[in-house]
Amino acid sequence: MSSAEVIPNFNSGSEQLKGDLKHPEPEHCPGPESENAGKGDACSGCANQEICESLPKGPDPDIPKIVENLANIKHKILVLSGKGGVGKSTFSTMLSWALSADENLQVGAMDLDICGPSLPHMLGCLREVIHESNSGWTPVYVADNLATMSIQFMLPDDDSAIIWRGSKKDQLIKRFLKDVDWDYLDYLIIDTPPGTSDEHISVNKYMKESGIDGALVITTPQEVALLDVRKEIDFCRKAGIKILGLVENMSGFVCPGCKGQSEIFKPTTGGGKALSEELGIKFFGSVPLDPRIGKSCDNGNSFLDDYPDSPASIAILDVVESLRDAVGDV
Ligand code: SF4
Repeated sequence: MSSAEVIPNFNSGSEQLKGDLKHPEPEHCPGPESENAGKGDACSGCANQEICESLPKGPDPDIPKIVENLANIKHKILVLSGKGGVGKSTFSTMLSWALSADENLQVGAMDLDICGPSLPHMLGCLREVIHESNSGWTPVYVADNLATMSIQFMLPDDDSAIIWRGSKKDQLIKRFLKDVDWDYLDYLIIDTPPGTSDEHISVNKYMKESGIDGALVITTPQEVALLDVRKEIDFCRKAGIKILGLVENMSGFVCPGCKGQSEIFKPTTGGGKALSEELGIKFFGSVPLDPRIGKSCDNGNSFLDDYPDSPASIAILDVVESLRDAVGDV
């Protein structure tokens, strides 16, 4: 299959997206819905200037709709990482499976990694499609009590690339928050891209009034990952997002044969635990890398169900316990 830029038709409902501009936004665009739209430094000479100047300004009228749509969600948790490759989406998936293992809990997993969506693959629902009804977009249910939403469900094929600038991503995130019909949820797990990018700014902007419980920050033990996670923590503090706890992922290797553990990323400066102590945040634990995690995720299965005796499964359940404790749920 060939890769191609795809702009799914998000305007199929009654609402016309305000960010649907005639031309791509230039670099340093302040955002077509921002107070500065059409007036910023980047706007002079921009082909969208006339459209942007005419767009309504002031408080976003969609914020109350987002608040209303998320009102029946008890806990909203962001999953963040400083850099890619630390297993954040894998962890979000396992966290979602782990929470939904309690049949008394209703769990949602929202994939906000617009350019690199991976939750549908890991949750075993890659080929599903989204249905739209009067009550909004119906998420895809992978179990009676586990639903998910991702842009992946809207792409014409698995390899289609999304090549969007900030405001287009911003509009999709707004619609995910405003229009997905989650019904009641105990937990909404929000998987975000690595770093501090448009998606983080958008989700924080739109969810501030709905109330985010906080962020679960994922790192690996080596210094290069810890340096980036410091930036992520700094972002959370500046944005007013509470940090629930830090998880050190891939903090050892579990041999699937003998179950012995060895270190693969040596923590030269004390790893996630030392960083948590230094920054005064909770350390939720270390999760070793078990190569069978990849196999379960590739098959769209719950690793916790496939290999409940793995040290990684036991560590993940400990993290879930700490998380539920941190949001006051146990
Ligand atoms: S798209 Fe609109 S807000 Fe962005 S730079 Fe152009 S005129 Fe300004």
